[in-house]
Amino acid sequence: MVIVMKLHSSPEQMEKVNSKLRENGFRTQMIQGVKRIVIGAVGDRQAINASQIETMTGVEKVLRIMKPYKMVCREVREEDTIVRVTGAEFGGPRLAVVAGPCAVETKDQLYAAARAVKQAGATVLRGGTYKPRTSPYSFQGLEEEGLHLLAEAGAATGLATVTEVVDEESMQIAARYVDILQIGARNMQNFRLLRLAGRAGKPILLKRGLSATVEEWLMAAEYIVCSGNENVILCERGIRTFETGTRNTLDLSAVALVKTLTHLPVIVDPSHATGKRELVGSMSRAAVAAGADGLIIEVHPDPSVALCDGPQSLDPGQFEGLMNTLRPLAAAVGREV
Ligand code: PEP
Ligand code: MN
Repeated sequence: MVIVMKLHSSPEQMEKVNSKLRENGFRTQMIQGVKRIVIGAVGDRQAINASQIETMTGVEKVLRIMKPYKMVCREVREEDTIVRVTGAEFGGPRLAVVAGPCAVETKDQLYAAARAVKQAGATVLRGGTYKPRTSPYSFQGLEEEGLHLLAEAGAATGLATVTEVVDEESMQIAARYVDILQIGARNMQNFRLLRLAGRAGKPILLKRGLSATVEEWLMAAEYIVCSGNENVILCERGIRTFETGTRNTLDLSAVALVKTLTHLPVIVDPSHATGKRELVGSMSRAAVAAGADGLIIEVHPDPSVALCDGPQSLDPGQFEGLMNTLRPLAAAVGREV
């Protein structure tokens, strides 16, 4: 259930409610809204009568959440959650544009990508350093050496950074170098990793699983939030369907739906969704029109020699062109880039 505190309730009143819930076996979490605090409480609803809480001083109302995802649902927080990192925010009026190569390959490649995306207006640099590849013979990423480069390139250009983590070890190491940790589609239901992400101390970019329903995706976010990390950014990256013309099928209706179901920010990855650079521009514009809070786009200084995902990567000129088309479009839907 969710306990909505009155506008001017005191910290002591809130603490009393919190202790009462905990005494009755509930796990609680304070959620600070713009105007008021709500307490999310997960536990056995039979353990306490809601009216016992409702009559406590400082409590405005008690809501029973029927959805399985309790902390991330809109009922808990009407306004959008804004996840902030240095120089970028996800969920605010300004769209977050994350861009960079699929994988960090060399210092020159990464710096060229970083400078180009910065100049075109991106605010976050992406670069895979632990790559979950379908084939064990494909390039697997530079790991910690790549993280060094990513942190350096981010600092040199004033961009925040994001990289994917695939297990406990990579999460611990990457958390020392980057601003945002990505959990990829293939690990969306790695529940142990999700719990660890709850304690990682960094915002988490959570991609939708290859065949995950919206509810499964939100339950994955719930794992992270209920483990202690409210800073979760959802990312729609296309799902498996019968269609083979594109790498995946970009589910834009899920973006609009998820915005009604959760207060968390949602961004779109048109690169992995389509697998084709010629479709990245139109799907980016469609995502912004559908209400996405940002984009994550693969950009490589020379996609023809990319070690990973070249066919879907934009070159710097194409990325700049795309950014120019996004500005008027964002303005038309009340956002800015
Ligand atoms: C990626 O962003 O590099 C990636 C592998 O994405 P996904 O997990 O969506 O396939
Ligand atoms: Mn990729």
